[in-house]
Amino acid sequence: MAKFSQFALSPELVHALEKLGYVEPSPVQTSVIPRALEGRSLLCQSETGSGKTHSYLIPMLEKIDFNLPRLQGIVICPSRELARQVYEFAFAFTKYLPRFKVRLFSSETETTQNREGLSMNPHLVIGTPGRLADILSSLYELDLHQVRFLVLDEADMLMELGYFDAIDELYDKLPESTQKMVFSATLEENLKTRLGRYVDSSFLYTGGDNKTAALVSHHLVDIKHRGKTQALTTFLKTVPSYLTLVFASKKEDLGGAYEAVKESGKSAILFSGDLSTRERKAALRRIKDNEFAVVVASDLLARGIDIEDVDVVVSLDLPSDLTYYYHRAGRSGRFGKKGDSYVFYNADTTTLPKRLMEEGVPFDFYILKDEGLVPDPVGLAPKKKFTAKKPFGEEEQLEVRKAKALSREDKVKPGYKKRQKEAVEKVKRKFRRKAIKDKIRKARTEAYKAEARSKKK
Ligand code: AMP
Repeated sequence: MAKFSQFALSPELVHALEKLGYVEPSPVQTSVIPRALEGRSLLCQSETGSGKTHSYLIPMLEKIDFNLPRLQGIVICPSRELARQVYEFAFAFTKYLPRFKVRLFSSETETTQNREGLSMNPHLVIGTPGRLADILSSLYELDLHQVRFLVLDEADMLMELGYFDAIDELYDKLPESTQKMVFSATLEENLKTRLGRYVDSSFLYTGGDNKTAALVSHHLVDIKHRGKTQALTTFLKTVPSYLTLVFASKKEDLGGAYEAVKESGKSAILFSGDLSTRERKAALRRIKDNEFAVVVASDLLARGIDIEDVDVVVSLDLPSDLTYYYHRAGRSGRFGKKGDSYVFYNADTTTLPKRLMEEGVPFDFYILKDEGLVPDPVGLAPKKKFTAKKPFGEEEQLEVRKAKALSREDKVKPGYKKRQKEAVEKVKRKFRRKAIKDKIRKARTEAYKAEARSKKK
């Protein structure tokens, strides 16, 4: 069994980890921690609930010099909630590493508090981009010379929310030697390009590209003639759960769902963007204290927030940006616990469920009846894709030709042959990687299908 003591960590830190209940490193931690300890910058695509936060906190805690009263690490998160969560994970270590100082800087905290926080000379600050950039650059004279770590957490969301200009500005002020660690649930090409100035993708941990925690089972529920909220009442009355998260994309459905939950006799809370910062913070605390059986939430809650004990996730509809489905489903099945994600649909709303099936989500099928869920032997047949595939190898040949032609423009310059060879090799490597990825993806889809078939039996 792998243990944290296998890494080159101080006994003090290993002891703190033990005390906090972390004994066995998760796969992402096993992969990231040694690299980070070597001082390498890295890019990591990790599924939610994989333990990614500790995969960057632990190396920072090992390397930060607690005797030096200077800022040494910065973690940037896209939302106040996530920033607070990371802060709480980091703060927990202060009990066992008493010289370690960490502060949270986000719009959640008042400017005066932020100023006080800074005068305490924290080793690590965690916050949202706007507030951090403000604090660390214009508002205060802060010594950034000792900063050794910059972490971008949920980088895809940082980009989606347009935060990269603020991050760039901050980055320009940091020492060149700063070690960068970037984490993202998804990694589209445009994001990789945007991240180019921070990290190269030579170390890319992909926690399996099955996007959601492996322990989540996915179910499509045909609600037939029932309205979504009426269906929810029946569902909650008939499907047992410890803590259910209900997601809806439309505002009016959120209100309706909240009423439906109350009607079913369960304790509920509505968590949406309409709450003030203070209310959101209080709500999150109460949710984490297990005051409610059901949380009705907008997609605001779908990203990165760690609420333990969620065993059932219900999507009354699917978000038009389907990446949010993975985030929703990933609220359950966290860290070794089993979870179930149910998606309501009817004959008029089959397009998005089918698209998820094409992406490889291994749904099984149910029909919602008054007495509860009954297996649906028919389910949905995935839509066939009509993309005319290029014959194998043609695309690669084309790119190789392009690479050669491009390099030829430089023909007058010395080293032309070498550059041309490198450009061609680069294309070939790209296609080799693609072929391997395709193979893995295909094998995984087959495995999902086999698993779904065996469950049905
Ligand atoms: P994250 O993926 O960072 O959001 O973490 C998900 C949850 O896993 C958090 O509640 C962490 O406290 C927990 N966690 C992280 N690493 C470990 C570990 N090695 N062993 C047990 N739990 C962990």
